[in-house]
Amino acid sequence: MAQVTLSNIRKSYGSVNVIHGVDLGINDGEFVVLVGPSGCGKSTLLRMIAGLETISGGTLDIGGRIVNDLDPKDRDIAMVFQSYALYPHMTVATNMGFSLEHRGGSKAEITERVNWAAGILGLESLLQRYPRQLSGGQRQRVAMGRAIVRNPQVFLFDEPLSNLDAKLRVVMRGEIKSLHQKLKTTTVYVTHDQVEAMTMADRIVVLNGGRVEQIGAPLDLYDRPANRFVAGFIGSPSMNFLEGTIAPDGFATGGLTVPLPAEAQRHVGRPAIFGIRPEHLRLDPAGIPAEVLLVEPMGAETQITMRLGDTQVIGVFRERVALSPGAVIKVIPDAAAVHLFDADGGQRLE
Ligand code: ADP
Ligand code: MG
Repeated sequence: MAQVTLSNIRKSYGSVNVIHGVDLGINDGEFVVLVGPSGCGKSTLLRMIAGLETISGGTLDIGGRIVNDLDPKDRDIAMVFQSYALYPHMTVATNMGFSLEHRGGSKAEITERVNWAAGILGLESLLQRYPRQLSGGQRQRVAMGRAIVRNPQVFLFDEPLSNLDAKLRVVMRGEIKSLHQKLKTTTVYVTHDQVEAMTMADRIVVLNGGRVEQIGAPLDLYDRPANRFVAGFIGSPSMNFLEGTIAPDGFATGGLTVPLPAEAQRHVGRPAIFGIRPEHLRLDPAGIPAEVLLVEPMGAETQITMRLGDTQVIGVFRERVALSPGAVIKVIPDAAAVHLFDADGGQRLE
């Protein structure tokens, strides 16, 4: 196990900068998830930690050593990819033990490590099979087994669940999380899926365009997003945004006035963006009229897309609502759960 410290890490390909100075301290045993839209630099950052990409600037410290110029094999890390990259002509046991054989372990040692990892991952009965005889989930488990037999200081995962169907993804993300609770190995996990990030991470790093937008515990990001980007990226369905101005009696948007918390008064007159999560809209006979556009019953809750003023918003309600498009409902945002962002830079207003 080890701490991993990135200080002003940069990456450029020729004259194109793709990572613009990332600072990140990962604690010993921590599970950190890098999340962001496709192309934001997640894989590039992870591959620099692994040593598969050169580092253009800054320093990378793993376990108290600057490793910028060390080969991947000398960094004591293990990486799991989206493509499982198993050797098709080798059994599960041989695939898992291969890297140890490479390192010159004795046969008995290797068998013991492979059996230990197989036990943890529930692969005991599959050790003599070939990859083609396994399901997608089993293959991904073998890929993880190959990483854990080495008992590395750091695990790196790059979208390891993206090739699995939705149901299996949920199962496997639980398995990876309990694996981490057992082994407590420092882990950096890359995904574009904010639900994976929320459910798995000790801390989330939100990346956008090669820059860090915010670092924090999942619920801190959810409850106090630092800016509009993070607010819109974390949470599903996404936070609703209304454009307007902070007025003495509330938020003026599209001919409506929406209630604001008292603290918002210090920003009166300021153009802003009003953010409210779908579950923080309430049905209320004294609320603001909204035209129903779409009703989606989910069983436990009802999701309603509606027009509020001149903006389309989504509400998630615990009630079962039998309504058709065109109907008018009355909703009210929970003033305590309102987020305000600067109209220009998108920074959170306190
Ligand atoms: P992510 O994993 O978040 O989807 P990547 O780290 O793969 O994103 O890519 C980040 C950016 O770097 C993208 O804009 C991509 O086009 C660019 N990039 C990645 N590899 C190269 C390369 N070898 N040469 C030039 N640009 C690259
Ligand atoms: Mg990627």
